[in-house]
Amino acid sequence: MQELSHRRKSKQRGLIFEIVRSLKSHPTADEVYEIARLTMPAVSLGTVYRNLRLLADSGDIHEVQFETGPARFDGMTEEHEHFICTKCGAMRDISPTPAMKYAAATHPDLIGHSINGYKLSFNGICSECNKNHS
Ligand SMILES: [Zn+2]
Ligand SMILES: [Zn+2]
Repeated sequence: MQELSHRRKSKQRGLIFEIVRSLKSHPTADEVYEIARLTMPAVSLGTVYRNLRLLADSGDIHEVQFETGPARFDGMTEEHEHFICTKCGAMRDISPTPAMKYAAATHPDLIGHSINGYKLSFNGICSECNKNHS
């Protein structure tokens, strides 16, 4: 279980952290706000934004930003990649394989550069959408 790195944990920040950690859906700030309100009706959207920002800055959660759509928040801080469904927007975690790392390290366009990491995302139609289609 991961512990919050903040010495001064606010109750609100703790709850927001728990929400992001427990969801696998990579929620947006608005989605976190909707869930946080169920437990803390007094919480404001601004507070949720501010705490998400603090948690992301300290590395307790990750912010994932793609070309389109609002920023999403990821409770999984271990190294991983994403698959995004272009139909329903679902974002699934992909555990990195040695082949992916090898490809990044040996790509001809990267020769001469020092590679410290890479970001990769797969786009397509998720299994749920595939099921509903057929
Ligand atoms: Zn889908
Ligand atoms: Zn993720």
